[in-house]
Amino acid sequence: MPTNSTTQTLEIAVLPGDGIGPEVMGAAIELLHAVHVECGGPALHFTHYDAGAQFFARSGVALPDSTLESCGLSDAMLFGAMGWPDIVNPDGTEIMPQLELRMAFSLYAGVRPIRWFPGLPAVLTDERARGIDFVLIREQTEGLFYARGRGRMVDDNEAYDTMQITRAGTARVSEFAFRLAERRKARRAFSLVTCVDKANVFTSMAFFRKVFDGVAAQHPGIPANHSLVDAMAMNMLKKPWDLDVMVMENMYGDILSDMGAGLIGGLGMAPSGDIGDAHGLFQPVHGTAPDIAGQGKANPCAMFLSAAMMLDWLADRHGEAALEVGARAIEKAVEIALTGGEVVPMDYGGSSGTAALTTAVISALPAARRGVQ
Ligand code: NAD
Repeated sequence: MPTNSTTQTLEIAVLPGDGIGPEVMGAAIELLHAVHVECGGPALHFTHYDAGAQFFARSGVALPDSTLESCGLSDAMLFGAMGWPDIVNPDGTEIMPQLELRMAFSLYAGVRPIRWFPGLPAVLTDERARGIDFVLIREQTEGLFYARGRGRMVDDNEAYDTMQITRAGTARVSEFAFRLAERRKARRAFSLVTCVDKANVFTSMAFFRKVFDGVAAQHPGIPANHSLVDAMAMNMLKKPWDLDVMVMENMYGDILSDMGAGLIGGLGMAPSGDIGDAHGLFQPVHGTAPDIAGQGKANPCAMFLSAAMMLDWLADRHGEAALEVGARAIEKAVEIALTGGEVVPMDYGGSSGTAALTTAVISALPAARRGVQ
């Protein structure tokens, strides 16, 4: 548990990282300062820490022990993006401290909300696509990512990566999914937790489904079903409005969450929270975008919405309703800015860069705050 928090000030560990990470992070911190002025509540104190691929290239260390220690003492972690295609380990894999952070703090639930709201491009033409509102939960401490650093080569002819599924890991992330569905129930027409797997082929996936079913049986008030991952890939495109909460192993979640982002216009709009029992890290789903880094073109909205998720999580843990108001105000301000017509992010074919979008969202805050109960 964080030790240095009071309800007056909450300590936020800031990890901007590489590429567009620092660009969208700067924008989010500016917004969070404005949210505090507008909505009140505990002050957030931001401390920046070194980590990332480019830091590794300079120092030989990707995630210093001191950074890890400070993150552990913070009330929440705000993360930009890390990794750079040319900075790799001897086996060709990338330097990705975010994976270390997930393991170090048992951030087992990767929570990726996919919600369409006014102002977003309509990727699907069906009117019902305006009702897309589901949450993908990606297990983040095992699954196929267990193989990272453990891959085995046989001569130069064969390569093996092993998937790990444990009862404890599957049960805790399934339990998380049902608790989330329970909380969403009040504001939704239906509830449903879907186990996404490949139980028809793999022993590990049949076991994942069996453990999920055991947890589902303890939540009779929330309907549950299963979907094979390939069928889910199709249904996410065909009828995403029928989804509520989905839970799946690490690699499936990695892939389907980018697809979910595609449903609402792209990675520039997809936030996430990496949640454990004692810690939370909040980051956009996107990476470091080397193709646009350093040009002021990045859409900061995914980072803004991740900051809103952080405020929600902190509101819950500290019983601070003002932080929840701040979270809703950020969402509403993004909506107002994007529907106003004055700014259109470059990833939606517009010409508004990071600075213009940040100004537009901050300017929309007072109106957004008035619209939040
Ligand atoms: P990416 O998400 O960085 O970029 C994919 C495409 O989306 C690019 O064309 C990029 O310009 C665009 N894009 C992404 N975010 C955007 C934004 N906010 N605004 C506008 N356009 C945006 O994925 P990639 O190119 O596959 O990976 C680049 C690097 O990022 C790699 O080193 C990868 O390992 C790393 N990565 C890190 C994370 C993370 O930090 N959590 C996640 C994914 C990838």
